[in-house]
Amino acid sequence: MLRETVRALAEAKIAPHAAAVDEEARFPQEALDALTAADLHAVHVPESYGGAGADALATVLVIEEVARVCASSSLIPAVNKLGSLPVVLSGSEELKKKYLGPLAKGDGMFSYCLSEPDAGSDAAGMKTKAVRDGDFWVLNGVKRWITNAGVSEYYTVMAVTDPEKRSKGISAFVVEKGDEGVSFGAPEKKLGIKGSPTREVYFDNVRIPADRMIGAEGTGFATAMKTLDHTRITIAAQALGIAQGALDYAKGYVQERKQFGKPIGDFQGVQFMLADMAMKLEAARQLTYAAAAKSERVENDLTFFGAAAKCYASDAAMEITTDAVQLLGGYGYTRDYPVERMMRDAKITQIYEGTNQVQRIVMARNLP
Ligand SMILES: Cc1cc2nc3c(=O)[nH]c(=O)nc-3n(C[C@H](O)[C@H](O)[C@H](O)COP(=O)(O)OP(=O)(O)OC[C@H]3O[C@@H](n4cnc5c(N)ncnc54)[C@H](O)[C@@H]3O)c2cc1C
Repeated sequence: MLRETVRALAEAKIAPHAAAVDEEARFPQEALDALTAADLHAVHVPESYGGAGADALATVLVIEEVARVCASSSLIPAVNKLGSLPVVLSGSEELKKKYLGPLAKGDGMFSYCLSEPDAGSDAAGMKTKAVRDGDFWVLNGVKRWITNAGVSEYYTVMAVTDPEKRSKGISAFVVEKGDEGVSFGAPEKKLGIKGSPTREVYFDNVRIPADRMIGAEGTGFATAMKTLDHTRITIAAQALGIAQGALDYAKGYVQERKQFGKPIGDFQGVQFMLADMAMKLEAARQLTYAAAAKSERVENDLTFFGAAAKCYASDAAMEITTDAVQLLGGYGYTRDYPVERMMRDAKITQIYEGTNQVQRIVMARNLP
């Protein structure tokens, strides 16, 4: 029922704008409005904080169905979860009440600030600093590649509080867009997910109350990694949705397009391609849903499953979308058809929340 509801909403209110959002590289406001009106913009927020209380699998279904028509729009529910999960997992009761309520109501989105210009895969090498000053912390530094930066009201920011201790000297904070000293860089000009703003975030002597720290001092990096165990599954969901959108389009196209006097879908060479695409997609889906169940129950092998689902589903999405372009021939290579957008959008799922090389490192360290 949830899938049907989200699919109907996505097709009616999000799909019609997907090509323009990509072409004009503009924020999908229509999607945010539609998702917020239907209470689907941050479904993971627990009911006790005014949210819809969706479990990990339900959240995956929402993201998957939105990504099927517009990957940029699927970053609204996905990054709201990524940005706020540190608060859900490790925040004080006061922080939860203060920030999860407005997120659930649609009063402000959440972003997640881990990466920096010189600290990507090696995130613990970050330089952004927070220095204690009485009842305040003062933040200075630059975060890079921050999804929905400038649009979001709230930012979970990982910063060094003890440079001697490397990852154990990193703490997490909630910073608000309106805090003095917060500013944003120009939107990055990207290959795909062009409707999702990606910008630098600058912290110039940003003074925030000490109770904005998420969890204890020095636990920020652990919280950031724990968050990714859960949210990599939402990137897998995004990959599934993009791939399903491409497969659905290609399936319809091969029945219409005629060459040699018959639909190209009658050729076994084409049928075999579609069979492989559907097989890979279904395998990715099963792994992702299994990982979502593990996320919900916080099982011991979640770290392996989260990395495996993200890595497998994103590699599958890249292959499936590339094959969808192939099945449309020259038409697939143009922006008159949606599959080239899906192929460009799929690429990011192999890169963010840890590249697929990093996922393989994580899997190798956590073999089941
Ligand atoms: C559109 C977009 C949105 C993003 N959104 C966010 C966000 O909201 N918040 C956030 O914090 N970050 C975000 N990111 C950052 C993203 O997570 C990083 O780009 C990613 O982790 C890789 O870091 P890097 O770009 O510095 O690449 P690098 O770490 O420099 O990696 C370059 C290459 O080297 C490889 N490599 C590096 N180390 C190893 C190793 N040990 N073994 C094998 N290969 C290795 C990588 O796999 C990659 O192929 C986003 C990025 C993009 C492009």
